[in-house]
Amino acid sequence: MSAERATDDQAGLVVGRPVRVAPGIIRVLAPNPSPMTGPGTNSYIAEGPRALIIDPGPDDREHLEKLAQLAGPGVRAICLTHRHSDHAAGAARLAAMTGAPIRAWPKTALGEHDSAIVNEAPLVEGERLTAGGQRLAVWHSPGHAADHVVFAADQANLLIAGDTLMQAATVVILPPDGRMADYLATLDRLAGLAPQRIAPAHGALIDDAPGEIARVKAHRLRREAQIAERLGGHAQSPEALVARLYPELSAALVPVAARQVLAHLIHLDEQGRAVFGPDGWRGA
Ligand SMILES: [Zn+2]
Repeated sequence: MSAERATDDQAGLVVGRPVRVAPGIIRVLAPNPSPMTGPGTNSYIAEGPRALIIDPGPDDREHLEKLAQLAGPGVRAICLTHRHSDHAAGAARLAAMTGAPIRAWPKTALGEHDSAIVNEAPLVEGERLTAGGQRLAVWHSPGHAADHVVFAADQANLLIAGDTLMQAATVVILPPDGRMADYLATLDRLAGLAPQRIAPAHGALIDDAPGEIARVKAHRLRREAQIAERLGGHAQSPEALVARLYPELSAALVPVAARQVLAHLIHLDEQGRAVFGPDGWRGA
């Protein structure tokens, strides 16, 4: 890889402009930029006479019409990496436009950021989906969300990674649907899949997949160690820990940061390194 290539791909992140990120795989950026979604949600299409659409994104008619037009007639399925609304809110309208079934990992109770969908044909662990010359393997990858899956395009050596890894934003783990122990195990699992490049749902292509996965895992463990260090004999709230860990954080971001800290506290508890009492968290 080269820096030039990364820069090129960054420049290609333009709403509605399709970019071929690998042979047979197209990315289309949806018009929903925000602090949580970075430039917006990337929808992916595995081309073929029976195309697959992954993550239709928000319920934006123009974006969905673009996806339907690029995919062509006979769409095989609309697949979701997970049900968070920035990925799934457009699924029902796109299903109505294309006649294709919505496919996601099974989930019995919706999380707070989930869109309700009709999951016509639940995805199955290790299943191979085909579109044209591409074969995409489905792997459960919980942590960011309990129903999260990734799609490994083996021929392209590309991992369509949803929100397990992001190029332009930090992955948030919001308990209870998000779970840090699962997320760390998922990172190990993704490393085991040994992709060369990562196609995230937010941001440009990540060219050094193994390096990025290792970097993100090290970052999470470092944060967790910092939290464990600051847990003492007196009980603290996640918000109090945020104030000590990130004193310069803007007030608007404190609630999300506190949930992220909570995810680490729960993981520390599971390891016997923290306990939750009536007045807050303390070291074990
Ligand atoms: Zn998400």
